[in-house]
Amino acid sequence: MFQYSTNPDVVVIGAGAAGIGAGRALAKAGISFHIIEAKDRIGGRSFSDSTSLGHLWDQGCHWFHSADKNILRKLAEEIGHKFLSRQRTAVMTTFMNGAWRGDRLREDYVWGVLGAVAAAGRQGKDVPASTLLDPKHPWCPMARHWLSLMYSAEPEDISTLDAGNYEDTGINLAVEDGYGALIARLAAGLPITTRVAARKVTARSQDVLVETDQGTITAKAVIVAVPARMIETGRLKIDDLPADISQAFADVPMGYYEKIAIAFDGKVFDDFYMPYANIFDPVAPATHPLNFELHPFGRPLAITHIAGHFARDMEREGEPGMIDFALSALVRAFGSDLRKRIKKATTTHWSSDVFIKGAYSCAKPGRGDARRAFAAPIRGRIFLAGEHVHQTFQATAHGAFETGLRAAASAISAVGHGAASEAQTLPV
Ligand SMILES: Cc1cc2nc3c(=O)[nH]c(=O)nc-3n(C[C@H](O)[C@H](O)[C@H](O)COP(=O)(O)OP(=O)(O)OC[C@H]3O[C@@H](n4cnc5c(N)ncnc54)[C@H](O)[C@@H]3O)c2cc1C
Repeated sequence: MFQYSTNPDVVVIGAGAAGIGAGRALAKAGISFHIIEAKDRIGGRSFSDSTSLGHLWDQGCHWFHSADKNILRKLAEEIGHKFLSRQRTAVMTTFMNGAWRGDRLREDYVWGVLGAVAAAGRQGKDVPASTLLDPKHPWCPMARHWLSLMYSAEPEDISTLDAGNYEDTGINLAVEDGYGALIARLAAGLPITTRVAARKVTARSQDVLVETDQGTITAKAVIVAVPARMIETGRLKIDDLPADISQAFADVPMGYYEKIAIAFDGKVFDDFYMPYANIFDPVAPATHPLNFELHPFGRPLAITHIAGHFARDMEREGEPGMIDFALSALVRAFGSDLRKRIKKATTTHWSSDVFIKGAYSCAKPGRGDARRAFAAPIRGRIFLAGEHVHQTFQATAHGAFETGLRAAASAISAVGHGAASEAQTLPV
């Protein structure tokens, strides 16, 4: 049975980037606190896997997005955690109809759509991203694929306003030593207990009760840093959740995004050192566009990414089908000898993970500003944190981390320590 000898001032629920950001700020301010985490590991959607393939790869976040404004990139620099220091020039080659091509015109259609979606949002339009697609364009399936990767949702379900609210500086740097490994390093020394799942949070006049599967904890304030779907589905219940916040969980659902990773006995794509290779056959739509990272950081891996309903449905069907799907696309482009070189293969399961249940949040069309509701304190003692809470770096790990810092600042004020200003200005 999980027990505290003394109840902490603040309980943080969830040890992902947001919960760990909160923990670091609380520790720095000298507040008594404890982090509980339902899984048997910390990091949540930041997870560097070095065991299943024998080579490190990130099952979840992998890129420092908006890297020039990314607080986690700065922290990585401070502790010598390696990442690509320069943006690689966009190298994107596409295998189509039996040949590799670098057809800029057609690629420009894809990037044009991605830009147009965000631009529409910045102009205040809140319409489905799908309205900016030309369904007759031969590269429309590829544009749909990339939209679903960026927002983890179907283009019909993406709000252009939410997309336009995102602050994209255009600099994205991959984390060589692992994004999940970075989050784990930043958690060193924090008081975290794993395998404790919160079930219900109830604010009372003087305190907050956190009911867990291992007993009840009483605290003065609580930071709820779990994936949005946990609250949307009631798996974690917040008593008396204000109606506007409850509605926001319905309006800003999490989408789906999975990765399939294959390890080979050595480098097999010698002439193809590039961040992304698209494999796409427009005359056979059933093949679905794909893009691969080949030999990331020189490792003998191919990692492909799928998103939206396609990812959700593939993940439901199971790992063998996912691996076969990715491998078939690679074999079409690189030849069947590839099959003999495979050492291991594995996939992610974010969609069915009971403590995650999806990828990241995306506002529905017409509800592009709905996530603003998450910023409000609940009964003065409960504070939400997580990627869904951020207004401009939503859906990212560094955005989640920043919301943890802010929630900690609010919690510090709520417990009466008056140290909020320190936490707010934290370099962390
Ligand atoms: C495939 C994929 C690729 C991605 N790529 C990138 C990328 O390249 N760059 C980027 O910036 N972002 C990326 N993201 C998004 C990024 O990973 C997330 O936005 C971020 O990690 C979310 O952090 P969080 O703290 O909000 O939530 P999480 O990391 O999900 O942490 C929440 C924690 O709460 C725990 N929990 C759940 N329920 C309970 C409960 N009842 N009690 C206790 N604990 C509970 C969970 O187990 C989890 O550990 C990607 C995500 C996915 C899925």
